[in-house]
Amino acid sequence: MNADDRRNLETEVMKTGLAGLAGLDGGVSDFVQIIAKIVNDWETSPNRQGEWIDKHKFMRDLLAECNSEDRGAMYSAIAPHLTFKPLPLSSYEAMMTERMHRLISKGAARTEGQAPHPVEVGGQKYVEAEAALATHALVKIHCWTCTRRKNFLADTPVGAMIAARKAGWQRMPTADGPKETCPQCVKKLTKAPRAN
Ligand SMILES: [Zn+2]
Repeated sequence: MNADDRRNLETEVMKTGLAGLAGLDGGVSDFVQIIAKIVNDWETSPNRQGEWIDKHKFMRDLLAECNSEDRGAMYSAIAPHLTFKPLPLSSYEAMMTERMHRLISKGAARTEGQAPHPVEVGGQKYVEAEAALATHALVKIHCWTCTRRKNFLADTPVGAMIAARKAGWQRMPTADGPKETCPQCVKKLTKAPRAN
């Protein structure tokens, strides 16, 4: 990546609000590594409608946050840090187009106020919808150490995970692998004396 590319990418990252994840002293390479880590850590899971949100769908949504001119730079910066083989950029772009068409064509069919169990996040009520009709993604996480729970909502799973990271939730190493940790426990655990 040349200096211009780096600057463009940095601007782009700032615009998407991802910069807050890296701390103020982080450079572009730190942003990229942190973003790549979010993608790598994403565990494929079905939503309640049975649609599997995998790492590729996550990548699609991440790249969709970028201007089309800067998407190539974002893709080539992140790809080397991924622990899985990414699809070609053109495949993610095709997936974006497909998702957009689905949202546009199904937009009119949104059901509101009919679901028996609306979920409330930030004072707003959301009703469950089929994946193809959904306008928002909900990520529910709970802390492995204190059992605190929180819902994060955004228009895509990427956005919801980013919201969780911004709120201070982190994946921390445990004996059973990395687990979601609430901001309070992150503070406690990182303060504890370490044997190093
Ligand atoms: Zn906790």
